[in-house]
Amino acid sequence: MHILKSMFGAIEAGGTKFVCGIGTGPHDLVTAQFPTSSPDVTLASVIEFFKDSGQRFEAFGVGSFGPVDLDLFSPTYGHITSTPKTGWSNFDLVGAIRSAFDVPVAFDTDVNAAVLGEARWGAARGLSDAVYLTIGTGIGGGALVRGQVVHGLVHPEMGHLRIPHDLTRDPFPGCCPFHGDCLEGLACGPAMQMRWGAPAGVLPPEHEAWALEAHYLALGLVNLTVTLSPRRILLGGGVMQQPQLFDMIREQLGRLLNGYVHHPEVMERIASFIQPPQLGSRAGILGSLALAQSAVAEKASIAGGRA
Ligand code: ADP
Ligand code: ZN
Repeated sequence: MHILKSMFGAIEAGGTKFVCGIGTGPHDLVTAQFPTSSPDVTLASVIEFFKDSGQRFEAFGVGSFGPVDLDLFSPTYGHITSTPKTGWSNFDLVGAIRSAFDVPVAFDTDVNAAVLGEARWGAARGLSDAVYLTIGTGIGGGALVRGQVVHGLVHPEMGHLRIPHDLTRDPFPGCCPFHGDCLEGLACGPAMQMRWGAPAGVLPPEHEAWALEAHYLALGLVNLTVTLSPRRILLGGGVMQQPQLFDMIREQLGRLLNGYVHHPEVMERIASFIQPPQLGSRAGILGSLALAQSAVAEKASIAGGRA
């Protein structure tokens, strides 16, 4: 590794494993992973990995499973909040890293990290405004608006958009424990399995399930398009491993928007407007690295009076 380069530490904190990375980008990233056991044991391994590298770190980025507290003014900022995972409820993840290294620690959700990583090195490279939506066990999304990941009162919960549900076409009531037939309740992987009686991955490409799935996802994407105005939307997660879904979603999205979002990106280039992500299994760790670098960039811009 280059001695004079600024090194960054990246941590993808997942429910089953923590992936740690040291580097500056996709080409020099050195990684290691540790199982998510108790916070003490896992964090000890994580901290040892970074210390043993002998590097000096300019900043750390942590993209975490949730729910997490992202409110900088909250006394529990940087904590994992109410997870059912034993021992992790109210754990101060940011505090643990900061007390070991005393450098800036950027903290966000895994999907927010993913949109940032894709915007730096992946399918939304160079774009200031993008959405990353994962359709898997649940549905979750991260949005980048004018180069900033969107947070507010908490963080957006795009999986829980309310969308029209025609009970005559689809009597399945939905499986969201909070809302029943929100987007996640109708279109996540488990919803498909419950509705059709087989895991989504074994339904053949010509099965009617895919037209209905594309319909629900397109309805969700209309809402995201007209509220966030992304320049590109990336669709990832297990359910999107079905390549036929992309064109079905593009077609339905175009039809639902009906020419109203009058821009060539949507009207003429819908195939590039709706795309799969590019970073694959490295999305989480590269997103966390991008978070670390954005923490330093923000500090520099504030110091330079350009905030
Ligand atoms: P998670 O959301 O838990 O991180 P994934 O993104 O892998 O995990 O999503 C898991 C869901 O994706 C499951 O509901 C599974 O049925 C579904 N899934 C996995 N592989 C496929 C596939 N090839 N086609 C369609 N659905 C799939
Ligand atoms: Zn819901």
